[in-house]
Parts: sequence; structure tokens; C-alpha cells
Amino acid sequence: AQRIGVLTSGGDAPGMNAALRAVVLAAEHYGMDVIAFRHGYEGLLNNEHIPLHAADVAHVLQYSGTIIKSARCPRFKEDDSAKLAADNLNNLNISALIVIGGDGSFRGAHHLSNYWSGQIIGVPGTIDNDLFGTDATIGYSTAVAIAMDALDKIRDTADAMDRVFIVEVMGRHAGFIGLKSAMASGAERMILPELQKDKPLTVAALVKHIKRVEAVRGPGSYVMVLSEHQWPGGAVALSEQLEAEYDMPCRPCLLGHIQRGGPPTASDRVLASELGVHAVELILKGETGVMTGLKAGQLVAVPLIDTWTKKNPLDENLLRIQHEIFNPVKKPSRS
Ligand code: ADP
Repeated sequence: AQRIGVLTSGGDAPGMNAALRAVVLAAEHYGMDVIAFRHGYEGLLNNEHIPLHAADVAHVLQYSGTIIKSARCPRFKEDDSAKLAADNLNNLNISALIVIGGDGSFRGAHHLSNYWSGQIIGVPGTIDNDLFGTDATIGYSTAVAIAMDALDKIRDTADAMDRVFIVEVMGRHAGFIGLKSAMASGAERMILPELQKDKPLTVAALVKHIKRVEAVRGPGSYVMVLSEHQWPGGAVALSEQLEAEYDMPCRPCLLGHIQRGGPPTASDRVLASELGVHAVELILKGETGVMTGLKAGQLVAVPLIDTWTKKNPLDENLLRIQHEIFNPVKKPSRS
């Protein structure tokens, strides 16, 4: 039987287990054997592998994390590492490798393809949604749901105290989580990488906005969503600045890795199942060097290189709507 390898690499994402399960079930369906490498590329270099059968992946789709573990593996960037990985794969008679991960993991997959002639298929597993060629990555929906849930809870206490809150969410290179969770929770403001690049927000402008919201709506809460790494010192530093320089009581809240745990949403489980099966189908079709994706309801194969060299823009409509409709601030009348 044909033997395929699979690994999860880089930052873990809710739904990786569901994708792994789908890969194993589809492979068994088509008569293939599956070997999983534990701890991502680290396990590929260390020959840390286990066979996976349907029974091993029963009842894992409802859990986040990854049962075969993930890791970062800086030495994989070296040519010798890719050569060693190729040797290990060849020695195991593996003819195709499925990499479940983000853009870094796909760069690693591309690097490996320079030294290994087997098929390589990527499955988009990252909460950031920052991979070109798919409308959503596995884990994104769950991260947004968790951020929204936290923002709702913050709103309760912020409202009781008429307080400003800065909630820091993940997504240092892409504002998808920030934008969607801000919109879903009715946040008054968001600082996203894409917006900061165009026109960085100043503290003075932020204070002006907070005061304008208060003038229009009366006293109340003001909740801001801040993507990580978009302010020197993050939410803590910015809230200290507001307190110290503008005498404006403000509280920071860092969601951090909470955004990667708990039960994956139905959307993520279904997406992971579709893409996991599709990855195996792409192997059967003889494809290589591509990522499976879902674009406008269609399963697609995207060249791996495109996934990090091209960029999905933030939805212009959502940006406009968040700014204009869910943030109703009238200009002070001049008369
Ligand atoms: P993610 O896949 O979530 O984006 P990372 O950026 O940490 O996570 O990448 C995961 C792993 O992929 C790295 O630890 C490394 O082993 C491998 N990798 C990343 N970039 C490259 C590269 N340019 N060349 C080879 N391997 C890479």
C-alpha cells in the first residue's frame, strides 16, 4: 500500500486534530497507510514517528491542540536538515507528506521539496487566517469565537464602571481576528496591523475619539481591540499611557493563548474535515507543492509559494461597516 506521512507544525490551531482525523480516515478509505511524525519537523529529523489508524483518531475532532504534537524547529531552515528529512522519508518508503500548519510550516515544506521528490501537500492550520488562497484557515473561526466571548465579558464589567478597556488579541501580521471579533462584539475601536501600516494611531487621536464617543452617547464603556505587536508595550503600556498622560482610567486584558484552546467551532471542524480529505485526494491526483483551500465554496489547490508571497486583504466592507455603522460617532455640530 502507498505510505503517506503527516505532521502538524508551528503554532497549534483548533481543528488540527479534526484535520488529522480526516487525513487518516480518507487515507484508509483509499487503502493508504499513514505515518505521523510527532513534534512537526523536529520529529521528521529525529525519526519520531508512529503509525496512525482510524482507532487512533476516534473522538479527537472535538479537541484543540494536536495529538501528534507540534513544535518550532529553527534548524529545519538549513539545507542539511532538508536533506536529512528527505533521507528519513525515503527510508520509510513514504511517497507523500501532508503538512498541517501556517506560512512558516509551508516555507519549510517548500524548502524540503528542493531535496525530496515525494509529493507535498499543505493544509492551512493557523488561527490568524493569514494564508492566501483560502477564505478561512482552520482555527480562525474558533479564535474569533473565543475573542468575542471574552469581549462580551469585558463589556459587562467595563459598562458597570464606565471604563475604557484595551483587549489584546492575536494576529501580529494580519488583523482578521481583530476585525471580526471587534465587529462581533460591537467594540468602539480597533488597532489592526493593516490599519497601523496606513495611518498609525496616536494616543492623542485615541483620546479624542474616546471623548467624542462619550459626548455623543453619554458616559459608558469603551472597548478597544488591539492586535498584538501593534503598540510598543502592548495593551498594558497603552492603558498606562492613557491613565498617566490623560487621567483616563483604563484596563488592559491580554487574551493570549486562550485563543487557541477549548472546543473548535462547528465551522472549524467541518472545514478541517473537508480540507483533510481533500489533501488526500490531491495526493491521489498526483498533485504536489500545493495547499488545499476553500475559496467561495469550492475546494481548491493553491501553489504553496502563493500562500505566503500573496496576501488576502481584510474585507473592505467589514472595515467600512465597523467604522461607520457599529461606531456611530456624529461629528460635533458647528452651529
Ligand atoms: P507557522 O507554521 O504556524 O507559521 P512557524 O513560522 O513557527 O509557524 O514555522 C514553523 C516551522 O516551519 C519552523 O519552526 C521551521 O521549522 C519551519 N520553517 C519556517 N520558515 C522556514 C523556512 N524559511 N525554511 C525552512 N523551514 C522553515
